[in-house]
Amino acid sequence: MFDSHCHLTDLDDPLGGLLSAQSAGVRSVLTCGYDPPSNAAVIALRTRVPDLPIALGLHPWFAHQDVAPILELIERQRPDVVGELGLDLWGDTPMLSLDRQMHVLDAQLQLARRLDLPVTVHSRKAIDAVLSALRNHPGVRGALHAYSGSWEQLRPFLDAGFYLGIGGAITRDRARRLHRVARAAPLDRILVETDSPAIGMDIVEPPHVRPAHLPRVVEALARLRGMDPTELAAVTDDNAARLFGEKVRATPRVQ
Ligand SMILES: [Zn+2]
Repeated sequence: MFDSHCHLTDLDDPLGGLLSAQSAGVRSVLTCGYDPPSNAAVIALRTRVPDLPIALGLHPWFAHQDVAPILELIERQRPDVVGELGLDLWGDTPMLSLDRQMHVLDAQLQLARRLDLPVTVHSRKAIDAVLSALRNHPGVRGALHAYSGSWEQLRPFLDAGFYLGIGGAITRDRARRLHRVARAAPLDRILVETDSPAIGMDIVEPPHVRPAHLPRVVEALARLRGMDPTELAAVTDDNAARLFGEKVRATPRVQ
């Protein structure tokens, strides 16, 4: 199993988080930065665990910061993925204007395209704006992480070759719309993730969520799809390798 989006560096013990995941059958994870300190922590972690897939980027919550140093960092460090990036328009008055968020997103998408790197996208109440941003950068590939929108909203992303990340919300009985999306989505476009420690699931709440809880997500998704969890995990691993590269098949070891 591969956790396609998490934040190991937000755990008190990132290496312990990775090792306990591996004991639970989660071979590897994509660990994502989101602002300058977390990007630095992710890079430091990669020096300890060289085969660890990493993402570097500027999250929309931090889009008041200068994006230029982040772009330079990505160029220099060559992560496996650009992100976490995206748009967040939740609430009556979003923390930052759409214009500002769009500027930061646009700059990162442009770089991802130039470096031919995939992106991991955060979208909250902003799916149409995310779609129009992506349309300005044809050829950029990636995943909508922790997707929670409707099937209709997802369609154009699938048409554009995007993947969807299914997270812990799938384990909730009340998540009917997400269940419909998860049943309808093409099997070759689904990734699984924990977004640990941020997003809860039926058996554990933030901040206690860990990549080791990924099997619970796979189990819930397998039940919805009427599949064997092992078979489903193999398919989502293949999907992650197609999007993020063969590195995701390695078992990262602490040096
Ligand atoms: Zn995240």
